[in-house]
Amino acid sequence: MRKVYLDNNATTPIHPDVQNAIMKFLAENFGNPSSIHWAGRDAKKALEDAREKVAALINADPSEIVFTGSGTEANNMAIKGIAFQNIEKKGHIITSSVEHPSVLNTCKYLEKKGFEVTYLPVDSYGMIDPGDLKKSIKKNTILISIMMVNNEIGNIYPVKELVSIAKENNIPFHCDAVQALGKIEVDVKKLGVDLLSISAHKIYAPKGVGALYIRKGLKIEPIITGGHQEKNRRGGTENMIGIVGFGKACEIAKKEMSEVAERVKKLRDKLEKGIMERIPDVKLNGHPEKRVPTTLNVSFLYVEGESILLNLDLEGIAASSGSACTSGTLDPSHVLTAMGIPHEVAHGSVRFSLGRDTKEEDIDYVLEVLPPIIEKLRSYSPLYRKAKGGK
Ligand SMILES: *Cc1c(COP(=O)(O)O)cnc(C)c1O
Repeated sequence: MRKVYLDNNATTPIHPDVQNAIMKFLAENFGNPSSIHWAGRDAKKALEDAREKVAALINADPSEIVFTGSGTEANNMAIKGIAFQNIEKKGHIITSSVEHPSVLNTCKYLEKKGFEVTYLPVDSYGMIDPGDLKKSIKKNTILISIMMVNNEIGNIYPVKELVSIAKENNIPFHCDAVQALGKIEVDVKKLGVDLLSISAHKIYAPKGVGALYIRKGLKIEPIITGGHQEKNRRGGTENMIGIVGFGKACEIAKKEMSEVAERVKKLRDKLEKGIMERIPDVKLNGHPEKRVPTTLNVSFLYVEGESILLNLDLEGIAASSGSACTSGTLDPSHVLTAMGIPHEVAHGSVRFSLGRDTKEEDIDYVLEVLPPIIEKLRSYSPLYRKAKGGK
């Protein structure tokens, strides 16, 4: 069966050059980078090479990069790291209502521990209004955490503008840039952020490794205490295989990013236009322009996203409804709900996320297979019959 993978926002396949770099490392290098002997020095060198490559992609200094066990851990480290510094007097945190669960649930946890959290609203396009951020700042605001690119709808948020508001008020700014990395420019200096999270497996490297950028001079409490690794900022022997792969993937992204973005945007636009032309009653979710070139989120009215996915899977097409972390529950996506999209429309949403390996034939195949699936599902749907005046 033909296989088409359009779920690159959930995870990406390993880039062949990343695989080669990992295999070479595995064959030659096994030391613990904290050891002072030759084996340790070899590992330390590989660790620091990777750190330089990750730092280069986001225009940071290598000393500002802390490797973590995931993007989720980087988000936890940033938010709890600031919160735990204020453990006595607590304080107020501002985030948005469309963040990844690793930010939202960390904030909810801190609310239970006595912190106060404001969740900024979004408009019907899923955009955040910087004016809302300005209005929600309080005397005791200790952190603002807002993502750069949304994983479900692909929206790009005005981080630079949001950071300038934080700066006027001397509040540290954390940005979850996991979905931005390798897709659009992420430059910590231009953005002016204090903390920024990234993850390897969203950019063609292995799962189980991420990084947190911590601006030089900013102190945060470590959440994983242990040895002196990562300059006392994150204990635990480093995931060397993952880190070597992450470094290689960052090096490749720096070179290939703009070419890939241009090519993938054409394919995404072709998919979007093709769906709109071939299938009636489809609604685009997210901002039509302020969006990464890789993501297309649409609602097919009168049908369930889950049924569409099962039928697509039978044809070898992998896509997603909302985020991988929340699928498996029957609640509609918190992102679409925050946008004011009615539950029945949100339930019909499907996310297609393209990547560097997506081919024109993949898109043609989806455009051939999808319309009859929707037509079939609608023919079973009482909602559809009722809406079209039948019985
Ligand atoms: C995937 C993702 C994360 C979590 O990264 P993991 O490495 O999978 O833990 C965080 N934020 C966003 C926006 C993501 O897409």
